[in-house]
Amino acid sequence: MTLLLPTSTAGSLPKPSWLAEPEKLWSPWKLQGDELIEAKQDALRVSLQEQRQAGIDIVSDGEQTRQHFVTTFIEHLDGVDFESRETVKIRDRYEASVPSVVGAVSRPQPVFVDDAKFLRAQTDQPIKWALPGPMTMIDTLYDGHYKSREKLAWEFAKILNQEAKELEAAGVDIIQFDEPAFNVFFDDVNDWGIATLERAIEGLQCETAVHICYGYGIKANNDWKKTLGSEWRQYEQAFPKLQQSAIDIVSLECQNSHVPMDLIELIRGKKVMVGAIDVATNDIETPEEVADTLRKALQFVDAEKLYPSTNCGMAPLSREVARGKLQALSAGAAIVRQELSI
Ligand SMILES: [Zn+2]
Repeated sequence: MTLLLPTSTAGSLPKPSWLAEPEKLWSPWKLQGDELIEAKQDALRVSLQEQRQAGIDIVSDGEQTRQHFVTTFIEHLDGVDFESRETVKIRDRYEASVPSVVGAVSRPQPVFVDDAKFLRAQTDQPIKWALPGPMTMIDTLYDGHYKSREKLAWEFAKILNQEAKELEAAGVDIIQFDEPAFNVFFDDVNDWGIATLERAIEGLQCETAVHICYGYGIKANNDWKKTLGSEWRQYEQAFPKLQQSAIDIVSLECQNSHVPMDLIELIRGKKVMVGAIDVATNDIETPEEVADTLRKALQFVDAEKLYPSTNCGMAPLSREVARGKLQALSAGAAIVRQELSI
């Protein structure tokens, strides 16, 4: 990419109220059957248009066709029973009733490939597609079959690799794996988390990214963040091994977060999607605030490797707030681009 500081979002964007109840995670669809398929495509068009109007350079589907960034993918797999549910602790943080792995997991057919083709047909801009990462997938399930987190992660990595290869063939430029679990299970990350992620990207020619964050601005996450103290050094655990990995881009959270910016030094050489937009507040950043975060990041990332982005997905926000934040992101990036070109 020749443009300096290309902007993007970490993932989800709010859905229109005619598609699903707004400002809510796992919001049920308001339509069914063919009407739902058409409505999802219309929402994807609108989301793309809003990203374009805000000046976002690397666009996405805004995750308009999925209810949740992990669950929707798993729903399409064999071996997982959504009727048989068990209560587990997600990311060691909050209890949730989750589906059970009851047999060998497999992907009987592509999950998002048609959606990606649809997005590709709407735009010539670079597109990024998000998938859940293996470790985050296993963390939202009860496993009564493999009875091994690691084994299940390797199985999911194979499945993700099949999906990723088809997304690449559909014309996706960057495939991103969401791994918020990397900020929690440090030993597993280093023992097999990064290895399974590398299995998921095996053989891909397109660019690959991993998104590691502190989660959506929902209560369970906000409460957890209060326990983390004044300096959030979680990234320090995964970064050294990630720096050595085959992943091209690391997407992380910076704006208003307590992550010491100098931790980015640990992934020197990688492209970095710097979260310059806080998704846990309705306050819209000023372009100058965005620019300030980007300038700080530039101390540790070469300009040609810095990708201004958001801390996480914006699905739980109102559309108005999300639009404002996208515009602030573009305007902030433009300020710094200008400074760099002088
Ligand atoms: Zn996130």
